[in-house]
Amino acid sequence: MKTTASPKAPLPVPSNDHLTERSRRARTEPMSVLPLGDGLYEVESASDHTYLIDLESGRCTCPDHVFRKARCKHIRRVAIEITEGRTPPPGEIAADCHDCDETMFVDENADAPFYCADHEIFPSDTVVDRETGDRLTVVDVSELRADAVEIGAADTTVAEYATNENYDPDVPVVGAIYPHARVARNGVVPSSLKVYVFPRTRLEREVRAE
Ligand SMILES: [Zn+2]
Ligand SMILES: [Zn+2]
Repeated sequence: MKTTASPKAPLPVPSNDHLTERSRRARTEPMSVLPLGDGLYEVESASDHTYLIDLESGRCTCPDHVFRKARCKHIRRVAIEITEGRTPPPGEIAADCHDCDETMFVDENADAPFYCADHEIFPSDTVVDRETGDRLTVVDVSELRADAVEIGAADTTVAEYATNENYDPDVPVVGAIYPHARVARNGVVPSSLKVYVFPRTRLEREVRAE
Protein backbone atom coordinates (compact mmCIF):
# COMPACT_ATOMS: atom_id res chain seq x y z
CA MET A 1 0.00 0.00 0.00
CA LYS A 2 1.30 3.45 -0.98
CA THR A 3 1.02 5.84 1.97
CA THR A 4 3.22 8.65 0.63
CA ALA A 5 0.80 10.39 -1.69
CA SER A 6 1.98 13.76 -2.95
CA PRO A 7 -0.12 16.64 -1.59
CA LYS A 8 -0.07 18.17 -5.06
CA ALA A 9 -1.61 15.22 -6.76
CA PRO A 10 -5.38 15.27 -6.91
CA LEU A 11 -6.99 12.62 -4.73
CA PRO A 12 -8.70 9.97 -6.74
CA VAL A 13 -12.41 10.60 -6.64
CA PRO A 14 -14.47 7.42 -6.49
CA SER A 15 -16.42 7.35 -9.69
CA ASN A 16 -19.39 5.29 -10.71
CA ASP A 17 -16.94 3.17 -12.63
CA HIS A 18 -15.16 2.31 -9.37
CA LEU A 19 -18.41 1.34 -7.68
CA THR A 20 -19.45 -0.79 -10.63
CA GLU A 21 -16.03 -2.40 -10.62
CA ARG A 22 -16.34 -3.34 -6.91
CA SER A 23 -19.74 -4.87 -7.56
CA ARG A 24 -18.47 -6.78 -10.54
CA ARG A 25 -15.45 -8.14 -8.68
CA ALA A 26 -17.57 -9.00 -5.64
CA ARG A 27 -19.67 -11.17 -7.90
CA THR A 28 -17.10 -12.68 -10.25
CA GLU A 29 -13.87 -13.14 -8.28
CA PRO A 30 -13.28 -16.55 -6.73
CA MET A 31 -13.83 -16.14 -2.98
CA SER A 32 -14.95 -18.57 -0.33
CA VAL A 33 -17.30 -17.42 2.42
CA LEU A 34 -17.31 -19.17 5.78
CA PRO A 35 -20.01 -18.18 8.30
CA LEU A 36 -18.54 -18.08 11.81
CA GLY A 37 -21.72 -17.25 13.77
CA ASP A 38 -22.58 -14.04 15.65
CA GLY A 39 -22.87 -12.21 12.31
CA LEU A 40 -19.19 -12.79 11.48
CA TYR A 41 -17.92 -14.23 8.20
CA GLU A 42 -14.49 -15.21 7.01
CA VAL A 43 -13.75 -14.57 3.35
CA GLU A 44 -10.80 -16.16 1.63
CA SER A 45 -9.81 -14.31 -1.52
CA ALA A 46 -8.32 -15.69 -4.71
CA SER A 47 -4.94 -14.42 -3.52
CA ASP A 48 -5.25 -16.57 -0.37
CA HIS A 49 -5.78 -13.59 1.93
CA THR A 50 -8.29 -14.17 4.68
CA TYR A 51 -10.48 -11.33 5.92
CA LEU A 52 -13.00 -11.11 8.73
CA ILE A 53 -16.31 -9.42 8.00
CA ASP A 54 -18.83 -8.18 10.56
CA LEU A 55 -21.84 -7.86 8.33
CA GLU A 56 -24.20 -5.97 10.62
CA SER A 57 -21.71 -3.22 11.38
CA GLY A 58 -20.48 -3.35 7.76
CA ARG A 59 -16.82 -3.86 8.66
CA CYS A 60 -14.07 -5.83 6.96
CA THR A 61 -10.41 -6.28 7.86
CA CYS A 62 -9.18 -5.74 4.28
CA PRO A 63 -7.18 -2.63 3.29
CA ASP A 64 -9.90 -1.39 0.95
CA HIS A 65 -12.28 -1.10 3.89
CA VAL A 66 -9.80 -0.18 6.64
CA PHE A 67 -8.04 2.59 4.68
CA ARG A 68 -10.65 3.70 2.17
CA LYS A 69 -13.79 2.99 4.23
CA ALA A 70 -15.14 1.27 1.18
CA ARG A 71 -18.01 -1.14 1.07
CA CYS A 72 -15.43 -3.58 -0.21
CA LYS A 73 -15.91 -6.57 -2.48
CA HIS A 74 -15.78 -8.94 0.54
CA ILE A 75 -18.71 -7.29 2.32
CA ARG A 76 -20.57 -7.23 -0.99
CA ARG A 77 -19.79 -10.89 -1.64
CA VAL A 78 -21.15 -11.97 1.75
CA ALA A 79 -24.33 -9.94 1.09
CA ILE A 80 -24.70 -11.47 -2.38
CA GLU A 81 -24.26 -15.02 -1.07
CA ILE A 82 -26.88 -14.42 1.64
CA THR A 83 -29.34 -12.97 -0.88
CA GLU A 84 -28.83 -15.95 -3.14
CA GLY A 85 -29.26 -18.42 -0.26
CA ARG A 86 -25.72 -19.78 -0.50
CA THR A 87 -24.63 -18.70 2.98
CA PRO A 88 -26.73 -18.20 6.14
CA PRO A 89 -27.73 -14.68 7.27
CA PRO A 90 -26.51 -13.35 10.64
CA GLY A 91 -28.06 -15.36 13.49
CA GLU A 92 -28.40 -18.52 11.46
CA ILE A 93 -26.16 -21.48 10.68
CA ALA A 94 -26.26 -24.21 8.05
CA ALA A 95 -27.47 -27.61 9.25
CA ASP A 96 -28.36 -30.91 7.62
CA CYS A 97 -31.78 -32.49 7.88
CA HIS A 98 -31.70 -35.43 10.32
CA ASP A 99 -33.46 -37.69 7.82
CA CYS A 100 -31.87 -36.69 4.51
CA ASP A 101 -28.85 -34.74 3.32
CA GLU A 102 -30.69 -31.50 2.59
CA THR A 103 -28.92 -28.48 4.07
CA MET A 104 -30.92 -25.59 5.47
CA PHE A 105 -30.37 -22.49 7.58
CA VAL A 106 -31.51 -22.62 11.19
CA ASP A 107 -31.33 -20.31 14.20
CA GLU A 108 -27.78 -20.52 15.54
CA ASN A 109 -29.10 -21.11 19.07
CA ALA A 110 -31.54 -23.86 18.11
CA ASP A 111 -30.91 -27.47 19.15
CA ALA A 112 -30.68 -30.47 16.82
CA PRO A 113 -32.35 -32.43 15.35
CA PHE A 114 -33.31 -30.29 12.36
CA TYR A 115 -35.71 -31.34 9.64
CA CYS A 116 -36.30 -30.16 6.09
CA ALA A 117 -39.80 -29.35 4.85
CA ASP A 118 -40.23 -32.93 3.63
CA HIS A 119 -39.29 -34.48 6.97
CA GLU A 120 -40.73 -32.03 9.47
CA ILE A 121 -43.84 -33.46 11.15
CA PHE A 122 -47.08 -31.87 12.31
CA PRO A 123 -50.22 -33.16 13.99
CA SER A 124 -52.22 -35.50 11.68
CA ASP A 125 -49.12 -36.49 9.69
CA THR A 126 -48.45 -40.19 9.29
CA VAL A 127 -45.12 -41.40 10.64
CA VAL A 128 -43.30 -44.72 10.76
CA ASP A 129 -41.81 -46.11 13.98
CA ARG A 130 -38.23 -47.09 13.08
CA GLU A 131 -38.21 -49.83 15.74
CA THR A 132 -41.33 -51.69 14.65
CA GLY A 133 -42.23 -50.36 11.22
CA ASP A 134 -45.69 -49.45 12.59
CA ARG A 135 -47.52 -46.49 11.11
CA LEU A 136 -48.86 -43.91 13.53
CA THR A 137 -50.64 -40.57 13.37
CA VAL A 138 -48.95 -37.61 15.04
CA VAL A 139 -51.01 -35.93 17.76
CA ASP A 140 -48.49 -33.48 19.17
CA VAL A 141 -44.89 -32.41 18.63
CA SER A 142 -43.61 -31.17 21.97
CA GLU A 143 -40.79 -28.84 22.95
CA LEU A 144 -40.10 -31.13 25.93
CA ARG A 145 -37.10 -33.44 25.75
CA ALA A 146 -37.23 -37.22 25.96
CA ASP A 147 -35.09 -37.21 29.11
CA ALA A 148 -37.51 -34.81 30.84
CA VAL A 149 -40.82 -36.55 30.15
CA GLU A 150 -41.92 -39.49 32.32
CA ILE A 151 -43.96 -42.34 30.93
CA GLY A 152 -47.24 -42.75 32.79
CA ALA A 153 -46.95 -44.68 36.04
CA ALA A 154 -43.64 -46.26 35.05
CA ASP A 155 -40.82 -44.68 36.96
CA THR A 156 -38.83 -43.94 33.83
CA THR A 157 -38.43 -41.20 31.28
CA VAL A 158 -39.15 -41.58 27.58
CA ALA A 159 -35.40 -41.55 26.96
CA GLU A 160 -34.75 -44.35 29.49
CA TYR A 161 -37.52 -46.57 28.17
CA ALA A 162 -35.94 -49.79 26.89
CA THR A 163 -36.89 -49.59 23.22
CA ASN A 164 -35.74 -45.95 23.08
CA GLU A 165 -32.19 -46.52 24.15
CA ASN A 166 -30.88 -46.19 20.58
CA TYR A 167 -32.24 -42.65 20.30
CA ASP A 168 -30.79 -39.43 21.61
CA PRO A 169 -32.16 -38.46 25.04
CA ASP A 170 -32.04 -34.73 24.32
CA VAL A 171 -34.54 -34.64 21.45
CA PRO A 172 -38.17 -33.47 21.66
CA VAL A 173 -40.93 -35.98 22.30
CA VAL A 174 -43.77 -36.68 19.91
CA GLY A 175 -47.19 -37.99 20.90
CA ALA A 176 -48.78 -40.34 18.38
CA ILE A 177 -51.66 -42.79 18.12
CA TYR A 178 -52.03 -45.98 16.18
CA PRO A 179 -54.31 -45.04 13.27
CA HIS A 180 -56.81 -47.85 13.52
CA ALA A 181 -58.59 -47.61 16.83
CA ARG A 182 -60.19 -50.86 17.90
CA VAL A 183 -63.96 -50.96 17.85
CA ALA A 184 -65.94 -53.30 20.10
CA ARG A 185 -69.71 -54.02 20.03
CA ASN A 186 -70.36 -51.17 22.41
CA GLY A 187 -68.14 -48.66 20.61
CA VAL A 188 -64.53 -47.56 20.34
CA VAL A 189 -62.23 -49.18 22.87
CA PRO A 190 -60.82 -46.18 24.77
CA SER A 191 -57.48 -47.83 25.47
CA SER A 192 -56.87 -48.16 21.73
CA LEU A 193 -56.90 -44.37 21.52
CA LYS A 194 -53.99 -44.09 23.91
CA VAL A 195 -51.37 -41.54 22.91
CA TYR A 196 -47.90 -43.05 22.91
CA VAL A 197 -44.85 -40.89 23.40
CA PHE A 198 -41.71 -41.31 21.30
CA PRO A 199 -38.35 -39.57 20.98
CA ARG A 200 -38.63 -37.46 17.82
CA THR A 201 -35.77 -39.25 16.07
CA ARG A 202 -37.47 -42.64 16.43
CA LEU A 203 -40.23 -41.52 14.08
CA GLU A 204 -39.82 -40.80 10.40
CA ARG A 205 -42.37 -39.03 8.27
CA GLU A 206 -43.95 -41.46 5.88
CA VAL A 207 -42.68 -41.00 2.37
CA ARG A 208 -45.60 -40.36 0.08
CA ALA A 209 -45.64 -42.05 -3.27
CA GLU A 210 -45.43 -39.55 -6.10
ZN1 LIG B 1 -12.99 -6.34 2.49
ZN1 LIG C 1 -35.07 -34.12 5.01
